[in-house]
Amino acid sequence: MWDFSTDPEFQAKLDWIDRFLREEVEPLDVLYPSVSVVYDTRHEKSRAILRPLQEKVRQQKLWACHLDPHLGGEGYGQLKLALMNERLGRSLWAPTVFGTAAPDTGNAEILAMFGTPEQKARYLQPLLDGDIVSCFSMTEPQGGADPRVFTTTAVRDGEHWVINGEKWYSSNARYAEFILVLAVTAADAPIQNRMSMFIVPRETPGLEIIRNVPHMGERLEQDEATEGYLRYDNVRVPLDHMLGDIGGGFAVAQARLGGGRIHHAMRTVGQCQRALDMMCERALSRYTQGTLLAEKGTVQAMLADTQIELEQFRLLVLKTAWIIDNSHGDPRKARAHIAMVKVAMAKIYYEIVRRAIHLHGSLGATFETPLAYMWNNVPTMGLADGPTEVHQVTVARELLRNYKAAEGLFPSEHLPPKIAAARDRYADILGEQ
Ligand SMILES: Cc1cc2nc3c(=O)[nH]c(=O)nc-3n(C[C@H](O)[C@H](O)[C@H](O)COP(=O)(O)OP(=O)(O)OC[C@H]3O[C@@H](n4cnc5c(N)ncnc54)[C@H](O)[C@@H]3O)c2cc1C
Repeated sequence: MWDFSTDPEFQAKLDWIDRFLREEVEPLDVLYPSVSVVYDTRHEKSRAILRPLQEKVRQQKLWACHLDPHLGGEGYGQLKLALMNERLGRSLWAPTVFGTAAPDTGNAEILAMFGTPEQKARYLQPLLDGDIVSCFSMTEPQGGADPRVFTTTAVRDGEHWVINGEKWYSSNARYAEFILVLAVTAADAPIQNRMSMFIVPRETPGLEIIRNVPHMGERLEQDEATEGYLRYDNVRVPLDHMLGDIGGGFAVAQARLGGGRIHHAMRTVGQCQRALDMMCERALSRYTQGTLLAEKGTVQAMLADTQIELEQFRLLVLKTAWIIDNSHGDPRKARAHIAMVKVAMAKIYYEIVRRAIHLHGSLGATFETPLAYMWNNVPTMGLADGPTEVHQVTVARELLRNYKAAEGLFPSEHLPPKIAAARDRYADILGEQ
């Protein structure tokens, strides 16, 4: 059955989210438009505003909705989550207010999937309660998209694992209570068995932040940088701090990235919609050379293209969410669609934010609208969670699985043999020609 409607009960929740975001969360966005403050659990003023908002979300039963009920979420599934996330994506703070901020969502998911009861009690629970934040440390200075080039090692020494190496772009390491680290435990093994995942408490001796690297838009002089360049120098963790099986780190990382990519895309729909809303308002407000912008054919074409492309992208995201919901936990079923979404997301975000800035003229090029903050994110859309090209490879590979090479010298769609076969098939009617 194909059905594009939202049930009235859930629509009421979405309407509540819209009101709540507008009235109570957006003020936080303008007071603290900084990723650094979002993750800094010791920033007293923002926390004093945040905590009561989080409580209201819990009362509405909308807290940490990416998780199943036994983990404190509502178990809505990915489709409903997509409808929620496209609203939350409009706001920098909303994911934290609703307990669905990356990278904590992905980290919580793999702790829930692979963690022991002790690991869940010590690391997952406070994460779910919103009391701490966490970090995922996989990318290395020499490469992020190819796990074969990772060199950070973990070697067993008695009752401990000893970790050595450097990691790059470990987002929010400076604010994290613990870090999930992917390290090589069997250098010569095939990629699926070469690495293991470890939980490293932030204060473990030997764990050094070489520097906090600012991404675009973060100001060094304001000490806002959030991308951790880390050194692990004989970092010792007890044996029970491995997450999942020995050699199972690749599978744990894969499980994490699948969910993260689709949640990111859902939030991107929200950001694109916000940019389109701004374009429409601008077109109806700005009068130049005798007409409103909205009456100029070129502007109408720009608005129409934006609406069409956004709707196409949104439907792809929703279909992917639906496939995940109906895949009975088999990650292969949604693999191609998640990769398609990831490729499309970078393109559409770039195009829509660029058009919105253009339509706002000089104002669009200032930091006096949200568009400049969005523009800062444009280059990273095709990099975070893997570069576009890697996802294109996945899409192409999955696509080609359904095909085989032509049997002869010519393609199977070659017309001369088809015409001959069709003539043969209906020879009794066609007769001699
Ligand atoms: C905002 C943001 C947040 C991030 N957060 C984290 C985090 O929390 N933890 C973490 O561990 N990492 C994080 N990363 C790192 C991210 O995973 C890597 O940037 C990503 O995997 C790409 O790796 P790289 O930067 O080394 O680029 P490279 O691997 O060097 O790729 C550079 C370019 O080379 C080309 N390329 C690469 N591979 C291929 C290929 N197979 N085929 C064709 N062309 C290719 C592409 O054009 C690509 O853009 C984050 C990155 C960003 C931008």
